[in-house]
Amino acid sequence: MPVFNVQLGARSHPVHVGTGLLAGLGQLAAGVGLAGRCAIVTDDTVGALYLAPAEASLRNAGFDPLAIRVAPGEASKSSAGLEQIYERLIEAGLDRSHAVFALGGGVVGDLAGFAAATYLRGVPLVQVPTTLLAQVDSALGGKTAIDHPRGKNLIGAFYQPRLIVADVQTLRSLGEREFREGLAEVIKYGAIMDADLIAHLENSLGPILSREPRALEIIVERSLRHKAFVVERDEQESDLRAILNFGHTVGHALETSAGYGHYLHGEAVAIGMGAASRLSCLYASLAPSAARRLQNLIQAAGLPLDLPAGWLNENFAHALRLDKKRAAGAIRFVLLDRLGHALVRALEFEQVTAALAP
Ligand code: NAD
Repeated sequence: MPVFNVQLGARSHPVHVGTGLLAGLGQLAAGVGLAGRCAIVTDDTVGALYLAPAEASLRNAGFDPLAIRVAPGEASKSSAGLEQIYERLIEAGLDRSHAVFALGGGVVGDLAGFAAATYLRGVPLVQVPTTLLAQVDSALGGKTAIDHPRGKNLIGAFYQPRLIVADVQTLRSLGEREFREGLAEVIKYGAIMDADLIAHLENSLGPILSREPRALEIIVERSLRHKAFVVERDEQESDLRAILNFGHTVGHALETSAGYGHYLHGEAVAIGMGAASRLSCLYASLAPSAARRLQNLIQAAGLPLDLPAGWLNENFAHALRLDKKRAAGAIRFVLLDRLGHALVRALEFEQVTAALAP
């Protein structure tokens, strides 16, 4: 039984969250009408851990899987990485009925997703996310992309998967830093949509940080339901979906100014949420005690909170102003008026920097 369905008309699809689901991947894929030849795209790290059980499960259900491995890391989300996948799909003669399985984190999900969206004008896609960030965020929503030398995610497509299978068992092998950065996105859903989730995280951080299966199932399912709620109402990010960018405006500027790779994405988002909570007190009447609760939770999850020394440099200002350009004059900032409720405010660049200055 799926946990729930993402309701998008003809593009609706089931989402499964559980422990040990990889062993049943083939059955779940057969259940949505897939069969025969297929490709599993993964990276070398995830492949070494989970390719064999995924392949075995698919074979047991009558599939004939072709494994395609890319190098781990953002560099694979490139035209070269994409080319490598096309080459293998063409060589193996996969046709439009054959599915592509994305087994890995957000890099594999975005890359294999874009390959599936474009190969033969679109073949069925199954997302099998293996990082916390991918399980609570990137696997659901249909955003697929590769990077361009001039910017991240510049080439992409909205393309919905046919099925999402999030096996929380795979999170046990994830590095500590990578696990905690995924928690930043879970905290984000609580901050913008679900005050009870904030309370749940405060009370259950121990079992979550020790990755107890049931504790993980709860936060992954709850996060995905929130993301689905937003995506169902605004699939192509024209309005409501913007609230998912809470913490991301300052976070992105920080990622750019500190140089990609200095902060993990979730770490930059955590600092961005800390900054946005301070701005929310000034410009959206968030109670200071609520802002402190959010900041304490971010820290308790082992995530950074403070802007680093020297943050207000030219690169940061440039990156923040790029957002300004996009929103005709002001920066569209996602703020909170209370825990569990977000709104979008247009702020001047100086309002932001003055409020965040020490
Ligand atoms: P990632 O895919 O690079 O994975 C991080 C590292 O963890 C990699 O080295 C990977 O090999 C390893 N790994 C993955 N699963 C593992 C496991 N179970 N055990 C051990 N190691 C494992 O990074 P990520 O943080 O998952 O994703 C980041 C990417 O996601 C970025 O490219 C970002 O742009 C994209 N993203 C996309 C969306 C979207 O909506 N499409 C949303 C957010 C982020």
